[in-house]
Amino acid sequence: MGQSDSIIWGTLEIPYRYFYSARQTLSVSVHPDLSVTVKAPNGVSVEKIRAFVHRRAVWIRKAWREFEPYLPKQPERRYISGETHRYLGRQYRLKIERGNADSVKCLRGYLRVTIEGDISPARTKTLLTDWYRHHAREAFQERLTACHQRAHREEIPLPNLQIRKMASRWGSYSSKGLLTLNLALIKTPKDCIDYVIIHELCHHKVKHHGPQFWKLLRKLMPDFEERRKKLKLYAD
Ligand SMILES: [Zn+2]
Repeated sequence: MGQSDSIIWGTLEIPYRYFYSARQTLSVSVHPDLSVTVKAPNGVSVEKIRAFVHRRAVWIRKAWREFEPYLPKQPERRYISGETHRYLGRQYRLKIERGNADSVKCLRGYLRVTIEGDISPARTKTLLTDWYRHHAREAFQERLTACHQRAHREEIPLPNLQIRKMASRWGSYSSKGLLTLNLALIKTPKDCIDYVIIHELCHHKVKHHGPQFWKLLRKLMPDFEERRKKLKLYAD
């Protein structure tokens, strides 16, 4: 089983599980699915384990980079007809055509992009990004309202929502009550979106990813670990 914890190293979050046993030294391993485990001698404090992971962060990142090419990943986006793009966890095929007005429609397995004037990948990308942003605003606000009903019991206030492109995180929470969600989250299923929202709301009460944090998160979302694993499949 082990316990979950994580550290923030620069802009990188390093989640890991740690296990105690009758051994002499701390050791860390990175597995091909990018999970990180730490083996610790009995009685070593959570803070010492955290400091140890910090010291090994460069090595962990290097190991991640070595394993990453072997993970199932979406190829580089080219914004051409036939390419698949995700929306709320489902795959849709792009269909780009000329028309009388710019529009994007999602139906029957297709993302249909209609462009007034010349078709180009840059134009398609702009229209599609606007479409994602519009739908993200609606979907995230709806999920935030639903998730807040759970968090409300823990006296967590409803935060303001901001959406932007984030390089290496799904979300963040500021102590001023601002929840920021990564636009790319709109490509993942709703149960993953809910995980990120509940996770960030928990930071209202517990700032760091220590045992108290995971305890609160488990209380509000008992199946969070499955959702978190699933979310990892959508990181591209
Ligand atoms: Zn967090």
